[in-house]
Amino acid sequence: MWFYSTRDKNNRVRSSQAILQGLSEEGGLFVPESFPQINLEEACRLEYPQLAALILRQYLDDYDPDFLLQAARETYGDAFQGKAGELKKVEKGLYSLELWHGPTCAFKDYALQLMPRLLVQAKKNLNRGETTQILVATSGDTGKAALAGYRDLPGIRIQVFYPESGTSEIQRLQMATQEGENLSVWAVQGNFDDAQTGVKKAFADRELEKALNAQGVRLSSANSINWGRLVPQIVYYFAAYGRLVREGEVKLGQKVDFCVPTGNFGDILAGYYAKRMGLPAGRLVCASNKNNVLTDFFATGFYDARREFYKTDSPSMDILISSNLERMLYHLLGSDEAVRLRMDQLARTGRYTIEEQDLNRLKEVFDAGFASDEEGAGQIRTCFEKDGYLCDTHTAVAFKVAREYMARQAEHNPMVVLSTASPFKFPAAVLGALGQKAPQDDFEALHLLEEVSGCKAPLSLCQLKEMPVRFDRVIRPEQIKAAALGEL
Ligand SMILES: *Cc1c(COP(=O)(O)O)cnc(C)c1O
Repeated sequence: MWFYSTRDKNNRVRSSQAILQGLSEEGGLFVPESFPQINLEEACRLEYPQLAALILRQYLDDYDPDFLLQAARETYGDAFQGKAGELKKVEKGLYSLELWHGPTCAFKDYALQLMPRLLVQAKKNLNRGETTQILVATSGDTGKAALAGYRDLPGIRIQVFYPESGTSEIQRLQMATQEGENLSVWAVQGNFDDAQTGVKKAFADRELEKALNAQGVRLSSANSINWGRLVPQIVYYFAAYGRLVREGEVKLGQKVDFCVPTGNFGDILAGYYAKRMGLPAGRLVCASNKNNVLTDFFATGFYDARREFYKTDSPSMDILISSNLERMLYHLLGSDEAVRLRMDQLARTGRYTIEEQDLNRLKEVFDAGFASDEEGAGQIRTCFEKDGYLCDTHTAVAFKVAREYMARQAEHNPMVVLSTASPFKFPAAVLGALGQKAPQDDFEALHLLEEVSGCKAPLSLCQLKEMPVRFDRVIRPEQIKAAALGEL
């Protein structure tokens, strides 16, 4: 299997190289040359690790299949407490795919517990002995998940940059208290886009590259633009479908819709890939918060990032430039030149458009909507009071958009909402939504939420309070380069 750059189809690599490199040289993202077809009946029968190995094998065909099975077993076993692909019925025809039973309590663990193993193996496959330095810009959850995944791996070091005031207190502490010898964490002034733009600049900085190469170091990314992040996410769409079939909720082959709380467009893109691989997915519904660039894009074909940036109660979705949409554009337009043109425009002017007929084809697969913080809070209350189901602020956005979508359809498929974080990661906002006055301190809020909801908070979050803070430096976006060089 070859992977092509979205911006230059003459630039193609195998999967080890795509995973090691992250971005292509000219700034494009790697996309697979084709979509292998999965035998649905078989997929529905498999346990999570076996299913993961089956899907990984299709794309990572320069890896040893035994290695992939072993890696999937190690990743999706104990670390997920036997709850990989956990699916809960919320009400008739509406399900919650709980993707937060991993070590950092957010869905990003699915990719970031596995990708580090893929990266170490990619270097072996390619006979590469250099040190890999990973730079991560994070709106909160990626940072912690990446730190947990790459901690103390041989030949790897990792630096995480998060927006100074863009995360919850618990998210911040999850990163600031991270243990391990090969890592560092930095707060960056500004919002997520400032941090992401700063990290992207570092990747494009040839001077920085040279200086690091001279030390035997190469840069790589763990952001969701890396192919190694995307491919593990395809798996849980099939896993959810398999659960529905095995539990008699749907018949084999019957269509199911998915609603995905979206920021960088990685999670929902994996759903698109699952659909292309033969999953009977109906609509993929893209749910945004008040930063509703994508809602507007799916309505008009006009992507416009030049707008006010809002800090919301769902910070991991506070994003105006959804990097993975570039891959979708490539699959839609089928032309590297068309993508390059638009990405140039986006970089220069903050906007681009697609043609009406292309938009119409896009709408056959996707629907989109958004929810304000108040509407999200209303969903948390509704889910809890009506269905006895507790969800976090990101998942709540998707419940609002999913319910609205279903109400608009004369007839609709069963709907799976992807639940992307534990409600206990955002205890103050969740308590507020339940009509409780949240204590100032996030940990008091966490314990109060346990009392109010009757649900148990994940142990790893409770323990954070006792852990010493290791990283408390705040830097400007321009200093990311110096941090990468180890000069700060
Ligand atoms: C990262 C994240 C999202 C958004 O996922 P994308 O792949 O960036 O679209 C949604 N919810 C939570 C909790 C997240 O951490």
